[in-house]
Amino acid sequence: MLRGITQCATCGVEYDAETLPSVCPVCADERQYLPPDGVQRWHQPAEAGAGISVVEVEERLFALRVDGGVGIGQEAKVLVTDHGSVMVDVPAAITAAAVEEVAKLGPMRAIIPSHPHMFGLQTAWSAALGDVPVWIARADAGWLGRTPAHRHLWDGEEEVLPGVVAAQLGGHFPGSAVVHWGGADGQGVLLSGDTIAPNPDGRTTTFMYSYPNRIPLSGAVALRVADGAARFAFDRLYGNFAGAILGGARDAVLTSAARHAAWTGGEHDDRTGPAGMPG
Ligand SMILES: [Zn+2]
Ligand SMILES: [Zn+2]
Repeated sequence: MLRGITQCATCGVEYDAETLPSVCPVCADERQYLPPDGVQRWHQPAEAGAGISVVEVEERLFALRVDGGVGIGQEAKVLVTDHGSVMVDVPAAITAAAVEEVAKLGPMRAIIPSHPHMFGLQTAWSAALGDVPVWIARADAGWLGRTPAHRHLWDGEEEVLPGVVAAQLGGHFPGSAVVHWGGADGQGVLLSGDTIAPNPDGRTTTFMYSYPNRIPLSGAVALRVADGAARFAFDRLYGNFAGAILGGARDAVLTSAARHAAWTGGEHDDRTGPAGMPG
């Protein structure tokens, strides 16, 4: 399942081995980074290259935690419904043992990378789980380094399975997506990728054009993204790493967007010293 695939050693995104660019476009973009020495390195993925633990983070929601390997260390999620499973974001690693564990949870119906940084080994996961369609936001399809054989180009908002909806809210990338699911308790879960990132305090979120390079979105865009998310009812929010908000997440997103707009709009400049006020 790994034949013909090469990965960027820095970001972990997969490429066609035969048509490698000179530099990984994902890393060369101002949202990501090349290694400090500026040298592009490629990696041959191997099934035994990393360990992957499949951990239940709440009832019917699993995190795929990678130990070792290449890339930025995203934590893909698998949600499990009576109509099948959905993988949101894709690890930059694959092992036969992890494939077997994920397959045991039920038939995989869709693999949905929230944005191009999360492309990972998605064609390998698709093939290993039975030619699962990989959902690619049409607006961001130009970032694909390897075109999935089973690709579902999508726009806007679409029902993935009964009770599971994917929506492109934009911001971080034009097609940046979130996936909403009712959750086992019906209170609602938002898998938010990098579209809405939970902060270390576990109570607030942020809205960035670039995470590693910390380029913020405008207040207007943060408010638009938050309003897009608030169409859904959700109690918990999980980003594409280990961060999460484990209660009251919808309110947290709305108040965080208002805070972001206030700070980026200069409302709190009086708190920033040294001489205090501009002008
Ligand atoms: Zn890269
Ligand atoms: Zn990202």
